[in-house]
Amino acid sequence: MPAESGIAEAAAVLRAGGLVAFPTETVYGLGANALDARAAARIFQAKARPSFDPLITHLADAADLEKLVGAVPAAVAALAWRFWPGPLTLIVDRPAVIPPIVTSGLDTMAVRVPDEPSARALVRAAGVPVAAPSANRFGQLSPTRAEHVVSGLGAAVDVVLDGGATRCGIESTIVDARGPQPVVLRLGALALEELVAAAGPVSVRPGSSGQPVAPGTLAAHYAPRTPLRLVSGAEPAPGGGERRGFLAFRAAPAAGYAVVEVLSPGGDVTEAAARLFDALHRLDAAGVTEIHAEAVPEEGVGRAVNDRLRRAAATWNAAG
Ligand code: AMP
Ligand code: MG
Repeated sequence: MPAESGIAEAAAVLRAGGLVAFPTETVYGLGANALDARAAARIFQAKARPSFDPLITHLADAADLEKLVGAVPAAVAALAWRFWPGPLTLIVDRPAVIPPIVTSGLDTMAVRVPDEPSARALVRAAGVPVAAPSANRFGQLSPTRAEHVVSGLGAAVDVVLDGGATRCGIESTIVDARGPQPVVLRLGALALEELVAAAGPVSVRPGSSGQPVAPGTLAAHYAPRTPLRLVSGAEPAPGGGERRGFLAFRAAPAAGYAVVEVLSPGGDVTEAAARLFDALHRLDAAGVTEIHAEAVPEEGVGRAVNDRLRRAAATWNAAG
């Protein structure tokens, strides 16, 4: 956990319009004062993020939600009280104090309370809501360690708080619970099963084309620099001495790969999610020509892992 003096200084940087990267339980966020349009604009610039991709606003406590946005639908409030702090992002109406750049012009806002004491301490000390998307360049791998932020964004960030590896390792689940039935806009670290147990039946909206409501759901996203392909098992080694990498769920393939990452020898999808981006960052750094990845069981947080792998693979399909 980052030292307390570090948090106080970082909070002052936020209040002054600067950018602070900080750990949450999901991935590292790139934060700016959500009340300050100029500060929010710096997030888009630092990430090379298209202006149509709205940011998630972070609060210190569930009780801060209605202070910021006024009354919310009962189903939204119920999910907030049930799962915050935690990896659930909720859609609410954008209040007038939040400048439209934060929501990419939408009249709705995405908001959550992170389950990481230092992140909540930072937001509380800043005394303002903090807009923070993942602290990576647009479309690339999400950062689960401070080193990933530094190597990806470097000098574009004023302060990086180092809290070590993040616990969940995968982004929040985004839910629009304003209508008669909750809609999952992005699969994430809060398992669908837990959401359904609390909220009843939900629908899951797969990534759509056109202006995305949730660009984390763009077909091509979360991509390593190395071409990634989803495979159902090891493939014979090609000729020419190519070095290939393999991302396995629980066991390494017998042969044919120069570098292998095993996500969870014990077969636990939650552990696999926690290690996913870190393993992909390492495979990217290993100098392999191609990454083969196998899907994990389609259950719990495993759904979000497979979602990220499919989008990473789609990036490379789209690139041809
Ligand atoms: P990131 O933290 O980089 O994954 O980005 C935040 C995610 O939250 C993106 O996929 C956003 O599109 C999504 N998001 C932010 N605001 C909204 C909103 N008002 N409605 C739907 N999704 C949103
Ligand atoms: Mg992101």
